[in-house]
Amino acid sequence: MVITTDNPKRPSDYLSFKPPYQRLEVAEVCPFCPGNEGITPKETFSLSHDGGWSVRVVPNKFPFFHIEGEFDRRPEGMYDVMEAIGAHEIAVEAREHDHRLATMDPTQIERILLAYRERLIDLERDRRFQQFLILKNYPGIFNRHPHSHILAMPIIPRRIDEEIWGTLDYYQRKERCIFCDIVKEEISMKKRVILESAHFLVFSPFASRFPFETWIVPKVHSPDFHHIQEEEMADLAIVIQSLFIRYYKLLADPPYSFTFHTSPVQSPFHRSEYHWHIETRLRIGLREGFEWGSGFFVNPTPPEEAAAYLREVE
Ligand SMILES: [Zn+2]
Ligand SMILES: [Zn+2]
Ligand SMILES: [Zn+2]
Repeated sequence: MVITTDNPKRPSDYLSFKPPYQRLEVAEVCPFCPGNEGITPKETFSLSHDGGWSVRVVPNKFPFFHIEGEFDRRPEGMYDVMEAIGAHEIAVEAREHDHRLATMDPTQIERILLAYRERLIDLERDRRFQQFLILKNYPGIFNRHPHSHILAMPIIPRRIDEEIWGTLDYYQRKERCIFCDIVKEEISMKKRVILESAHFLVFSPFASRFPFETWIVPKVHSPDFHHIQEEEMADLAIVIQSLFIRYYKLLADPPYSFTFHTSPVQSPFHRSEYHWHIETRLRIGLREGFEWGSGFFVNPTPPEEAAAYLREVE
């Protein structure tokens, strides 16, 4: 990881960069628009509001992997193992095709969070699934209708596994949670904090790999996102809206991805020492070719500066 501090890049330096798919728009009928519900598989969850649905969750027609079949651990590697068994669902986040998190009412974001929580509670009953992953790419690569992915997997992906090992290692040495310590440290230093609410801290992590990378971390220790309480969900919805409107204004509606990292669910893999959180990453890299080729991440905007820009957005 490299953070360049000579001539750091400011928000305006990223504005000319748009990935090519941002210019594409699919011309076909949108399966997520109201009236086209028959095109998608039957929903696994929906919330009704004003005589229609407000959020729908449906199995993905073209999943990364599918739910049928018994999982047997084969030697072909992670991708083939995930092919064997897993659930992949799509949360359709709103009725409106052109809606986005930055301009959504926080009560709508709260409904999306509720949908995530209810699906994970349900999927947890299937003992084959060890790891959940919620993720979103904006804009969607194949469909612009606002949606996110809910994945349940029989194995723990390497990124999360590495984080868990880091957490356990720290716990063994200090008998404290590293995420709880980071939250305390960031609050006391202030310079990387973007915003703080009753239940969450939003900050640019120390040694960020990507420009404007941001973490949203609950201030009170909790390993599992799906054990979130109503009051925390309402607070998180406001925090998410506030962060994404800052990105929207500062960087002219940038493409982004976010993911929820939460503890594996089944014993013996569940880790009470782990601390769930959300990581967001803007897809505005200026030197992705170099990063791809070298494995070094070059971040031309130091996290302290990114946080200051995001904090000061009006
Ligand atoms: Zn649509
Ligand atoms: Zn913690
Ligand atoms: Zn993480």
